[in-house]
Amino acid sequence: MMVNPADTTISGALADATERALREAEIRLPPDVLAVLRRATAAERDAIARQELGNILENIALAEERQVPICQDTGVPVVYLTLPPDIGLSPGLFEGVREGVRRATAAIPLRPNVVDPLTRENTNDNTGAGMPAVHVTPGDRLTVTVLPKGAGSENVSRIGMLLPSQAAEIPRFVAETMLLAGGKPCPPVILGVGIGGTFDVAAALAKEALLLPVDTMDDYEQELCDAVNALGIGPMGLGGDTTALSVKVKRAGCHTASLPVAVNVQCWASRRATVEVKR
Ligand code: SF4
Repeated sequence: MMVNPADTTISGALADATERALREAEIRLPPDVLAVLRRATAAERDAIARQELGNILENIALAEERQVPICQDTGVPVVYLTLPPDIGLSPGLFEGVREGVRRATAAIPLRPNVVDPLTRENTNDNTGAGMPAVHVTPGDRLTVTVLPKGAGSENVSRIGMLLPSQAAEIPRFVAETMLLAGGKPCPPVILGVGIGGTFDVAAALAKEALLLPVDTMDDYEQELCDAVNALGIGPMGLGGDTTALSVKVKRAGCHTASLPVAVNVQCWASRRATVEVKR
């Protein structure tokens, strides 16, 4: 096999950047996520819910102090790359990401979560067929963004192929997703909502929405968030005002006869980090 030396260099730099991004994401929550958690704690009226939110904030502070992962479920890595025009898509880029995941798994360490879906055999390094999922978009710099995704919240995510006449029912669909989930996804949650596209695009949009800053919401996102908080599920499912910290929406055009809606549920441990790859 012919190996391009430049490709090898980028692959190595990408491995370093992926490992660094995973370390950052696993140990420290982004400032906007911390801000909404603190805001919710100050506003919560239920004493037990306030105590639960306090426990979460203490957990976050201890993880940073001890430089250990925020949660025992360190998730599966979902990776987003931006590629500048002078870097072509090559196998070396994907291998760089995989190597970064393997190194992070051993060094941080991360729980080896990736298994074969049917035999359940564990690869022990958080890589596997098609894993980590790597999404590539054009950009002006080479960056790697990681979003480690825990199973408790991923398992209660949902997609619905609504009819075009059901647009007004989207808030009910989103709230119903959390009603079915209850305390399983370790609320308070952040919801990524993908509206439009196709079956697969809606799901991808919902996950991408989790990369958006969560400390601001537009009117529609606030309406969805209010609908979820009206359920009263509360932190860890023990009741209270705070079921969702934020709802973020991404949209795409869709078929005139379709209205796909996907809800990607994210727990309070909404981990993400971006590192620019130095070349
Ligand atoms: S849902 Fe989130 S907080 Fe709960 S165990 Fe999984 S990763 Fe941890």
